[in-house]
Amino acid sequence: MIFKVKDSVNQFVNISNNDVRLYVKREDLSHEFVSGNKFRKLKYNLKEARKQGFEVLLTFGGAYSNHIAAVASAGKLMGFETIGVIRGEELYGEIERNPTLMFAKECGMKFKFVSRQTYRLKTAETFLKELIKEFGTFYVIPEGGTNALGVKGCEEILRGTDFDFDYICCSVGTGGTISGIINCSKPSQQVLGFPALKGSFLDKDISKFVTQSNWDLITDYHFGGYAKINLDLVEFINGFKKDYDIPLDPVYTGKMLFGVMDLISKGFFPEGSKILAIHTGGLQGVKGMNDYLKKKNIPQIEI
Ligand SMILES: *Cc1c(COP(=O)(O)O)cnc(C)c1O
Repeated sequence: MIFKVKDSVNQFVNISNNDVRLYVKREDLSHEFVSGNKFRKLKYNLKEARKQGFEVLLTFGGAYSNHIAAVASAGKLMGFETIGVIRGEELYGEIERNPTLMFAKECGMKFKFVSRQTYRLKTAETFLKELIKEFGTFYVIPEGGTNALGVKGCEEILRGTDFDFDYICCSVGTGGTISGIINCSKPSQQVLGFPALKGSFLDKDISKFVTQSNWDLITDYHFGGYAKINLDLVEFINGFKKDYDIPLDPVYTGKMLFGVMDLISKGFFPEGSKILAIHTGGLQGVKGMNDYLKKKNIPQIEI
């Protein structure tokens, strides 16, 4: 029914601090192209699209979106046509220079580039009608894949000994992943989300999906906002790869683990805590970020 992914393993990260033990759940290794939380969020959406007889998937995303890459690849694997509504009209002539869009195009995805203003109104009835006129009928997957079915898929991230951890940490974009993790966690576990963007309505969005209150958002590690980056973050990511052989992406998992390591060093977690940090993938985005870093003369990210 749906293509196979590998079960993720929890990799021990040997830090000697306050007897805190840290493991990273390697969801990034679950599939070559549809890795991490994007597979989780697509699983039940793709099943539903198939069940309802749709042959085309339509979704939304930015120029370097992990979700766009995942939908394009999953669509190809499952025999769906895919359409990506992309934020930024100027990208129309830039596909060849954008590794994410190039990958999606090679998977067969068709694009519709829209202005930022139109993109903001993407869920409006009038815009959807326009899209139907242009492309015919399709199954809509929301931005980032976050809807009730996406959350349901993320409820499968924790299993087995994962329920023995005191803290589960994950990066937060639209909030679907953390919602699934919260719903399947034990009430005695604390789920900590690290938003990758600044100031939004994430608390509200998460509250819509969750059935428990054992969670909190730590908002100190967005590095200035979505996809914003600085030398500290690049050096942290490269150091983490060197020390623990775990590659991180600069938009989500790099910021989350920077936060987790910083909190450990500050004694935030009680002595003896067992922490599981979820590696939600996103490594396809490193290429695009490195092109940007090169232009800015900042060292690049090693993966
Ligand atoms: C999309 C993404 C997230 C954010 O997930 P949400 O469910 O939108 O909160 C986190 N990490 C990575 C690597 C992602 O690609």
